Amino acid sequence: MNKLLDLQQKADEYLVVNPAALQILLQMQINCLRLQQSLLAAANTCGCAKLGTDKLPLPENADWKQLKALPTGDDLTKLCPNCRLELQERLGALLFYAAALANTLNFDLTEICDREIDKLDLLGYFMMQ
Ligand SMILES: [Zn+2]
Repeated sequence: MNKLLDLQQKADEYLVVNPAALQILLQMQINCLRLQQSLLAAANTCGCAKLGTDKLPLPENADWKQLKALPTGDDLTKLCPNCRLELQERLGALLFYAAALANTLNFDLTEICDREIDKLDLLGYFMMQ
């Protein structure tokens, strides 16, 4: 079963209130903020996560593989079960609204995902800015 297609069909089936594109975008932003809030709570309230905030030095003449191996300063390997579940639920909500937006735009989420994977394979390593 194609899980992206299944999610897109469920979003179409169950989202009946405010299915307008701008409302869905707003819900995505709200849920993105909730995800950030949950990650910050894991670090600052629970203490099961460590978020690196220091500027990390970038070595000159490093290749992509060396850059990828640099530590981020984060330690998310010790998430407690509660924080882990909450972060998964927040991320799931984002996926739901992405599926709902794809429905509103009459896009196929599986096709979008395939295209993104092809793009990544073509471009290779990239750095977030
Ligand atoms: Zn925790």
